[in-house]
Amino acid sequence: MTSDLALYVHWPFCVSKCPYCDFNSHVRASIDQDAWRDALLADLAHEARLLPGRRLTSIFFGGGTPSLMDPSTVAAVIEVARTQWDAAPNLEITLEANPNSVEAARFADLSAAGVNRLSLGLQSFDDDALRFLGRAHSAREGWKALETAQKHFRRVSFDLIYALPGDTEESWSATLAQALSLGTSHLSLYELTIEPGTRFASMVAKRQFEPLDADMGAALYELTDAMTLAAGLPAYEISNHARRGQESRHNLTYWRYGDYAGIGPGAHGRRLGMRSVRHRKPENFLSAIRRNGHGISEDALLTPAEAADEALVMGLRLREGIDADAIAQRFAVGAIVDWERVDRLVASGHLTRVQGRIALTAAGRLLLDRILAEISADPVPLTSARQPESAAA
Ligand code: SF4
Repeated sequence: MTSDLALYVHWPFCVSKCPYCDFNSHVRASIDQDAWRDALLADLAHEARLLPGRRLTSIFFGGGTPSLMDPSTVAAVIEVARTQWDAAPNLEITLEANPNSVEAARFADLSAAGVNRLSLGLQSFDDDALRFLGRAHSAREGWKALETAQKHFRRVSFDLIYALPGDTEESWSATLAQALSLGTSHLSLYELTIEPGTRFASMVAKRQFEPLDADMGAALYELTDAMTLAAGLPAYEISNHARRGQESRHNLTYWRYGDYAGIGPGAHGRRLGMRSVRHRKPENFLSAIRRNGHGISEDALLTPAEAADEALVMGLRLREGIDADAIAQRFAVGAIVDWERVDRLVASGHLTRVQGRIALTAAGRLLLDRILAEISADPVPLTSARQPESAAA
């Protein structure tokens, strides 16, 4: 078992709720920063006790809006994590930020706290689109925040959302060309999806707007793939693009099915062959910390078959794909894919295969869920004296 470990820290608060968002984010009139620092540090100490001797490769502050965290809390989490684990020499520390002026003013302090990679939620360069998305910043604020971020952080990424109602190939290619000219080495480009339970979902149900049709969405996805590839930031995952070597090491840990500890409300973790889930509601999380010294609501052992299937689902998102044989061996299970079906999808141009390694083609990437449903083989545990990694601790 590798000793590498990633750490995810969830900050659950936002200034307002965006209508498309289904993340664990909450709006509160006031936040007791000291109480939250103590709670996160207690939750972190719990994970550190469970995971001694690991090498820490990345920390990711996500949310919610972690740029609303007191920079001293960010510094404290980083410092304790570095003390508890053996930090890799190139430890990647990412923080997600919203680009309004108040948060941009903290970038210098966040950099001094140890953050070395900023992921900025620009979402659009157009004020009308930002209003539609319910964002709390203007296009101008976005530009200024990006400029400030590039001054303070060596690695900067930003997010854009495309396939908004009314988007065309012309409008999106102009936006993307602008994005690619800004000199960042990583971009996250998400197609707008209408998630159940969001304000957008009820607006669509009431016919207050119509999502962009699927064919246009697919055309914009293909355009995105081609333009980012030509600009030297090819997709390394369905929605993520980077120059070589500038991929998010933290997110690669998820997709390559490495171990990660998750702390903070609603954070998920996967370590010691177990899936951990924290209490989602901030108040419930704080009471769990007071009661138990950690925020866990559920710790469930993954069966080898579940772990192998998850590794397939996560790994196929990556352009590099997966080594199906290596996953089967790692979790001591039988075939994780139906090879006959894989070969049919290779023949139809949706997958590539080199021995046990399979990956989606550009056409396949548009049909990820359907392809997964078709090729998953329900792996059977093998009887073996060898302890599968998922159960090793
Ligand atoms: S800022 Fe991000 S996390 Fe917060 S509500 Fe908007 S999309 Fe969700």
